[in-house]
Amino acid sequence: MPTDSFGRQVNYLRISLTDNCNLRCVYCMPLTGLVGLRNKQLLTPSEIERFARAAARTGFDKIRFTGGEPTLREDILEIVERVGRIEGISDLSMTTNGIRLPGLAAPLREAGLRRFNIHIDSLHKNRISKIMRFASVDAIWNGIEAAVAAGFEPIKLNCVVVRDYNDADVLDLARLTLDRNWHVRFVELMPFGDGECAELSRTQLVTSAETRQQIEYDLGPLTELSNSNLSDESRNYQAAGAIGVIGFISPVSEPYCGTCNRMRLTADGKLHLCLLHDDEIDIREAIRAGRDDEIETALVSAVHHKPIGHDLSGGVHTQLRVMVQIGG
Ligand code: SF4
Repeated sequence: MPTDSFGRQVNYLRISLTDNCNLRCVYCMPLTGLVGLRNKQLLTPSEIERFARAAARTGFDKIRFTGGEPTLREDILEIVERVGRIEGISDLSMTTNGIRLPGLAAPLREAGLRRFNIHIDSLHKNRISKIMRFASVDAIWNGIEAAVAAGFEPIKLNCVVVRDYNDADVLDLARLTLDRNWHVRFVELMPFGDGECAELSRTQLVTSAETRQQIEYDLGPLTELSNSNLSDESRNYQAAGAIGVIGFISPVSEPYCGTCNRMRLTADGKLHLCLLHDDEIDIREAIRAGRDDEIETALVSAVHHKPIGHDLSGGVHTQLRVMVQIGG
């Protein structure tokens, strides 16, 4: 397994398939000013397979597809199928806003996908459009139900908490765990880019401690669950009598850099070494030209140079990309 210069074993790849999305969440994708990638800049299914095979040979065994919104790719089933049959990849998952899952959940499962994280910031029919702009609760909920019907489990829902946008809605989401075996995870707002998305994180951050307090005010004290997977960024809890899990992901107030096991590939073929730093290695041409040795060397080098730590309070973070251009 590739090990970085701080002794962290890095075995988890997040592959962004597009920098486009059918929504425009306020912290992720500005409404204007972003120039999207052209189709020919995106890696093709066979190029993604080539990269994933090189990664598997290097020792990576977990892959998550991200975006933007990965299901916008018309060739998504071919991509999943190609990567799903690679020997050595034991875990294949996807982060999605769920909107296209009614038509895709079952075929994606058949193609080899094993898990979804579905992103929903509110169950409130009016307020959801304040934070996820073009989303509706019904559209995402239909996607969640399609994922359940297709046999995906456990269902994981992610909610980014933003003050004055959806912090009043965390309780509704947490209550889903009372009678469903789902994981509902609340994520602290992180800064990306140098525009409105970064500015939002400076003024509207809600810490996990605050979110937890709000949930406990209604559901009573949460019991912390032991975590067998040390690189799981979520600290997990359960409400009394609940069958599901409430998780808190706290990159700002309780950074988990010491156990980070992730490497990212952007949709335009750059290894992005850490979510909160700008360091990148461009390997698109090596992938396009089929130079497998070069891809593997770049992966090893990327792991070796992976930064540790960040200073979000001091304004040091990824400046060159917003979240939709990296994938969460
Ligand atoms: Fe799309 Fe997810 Fe970004 Fe929202 S957070 S704009 S759903 S990629």
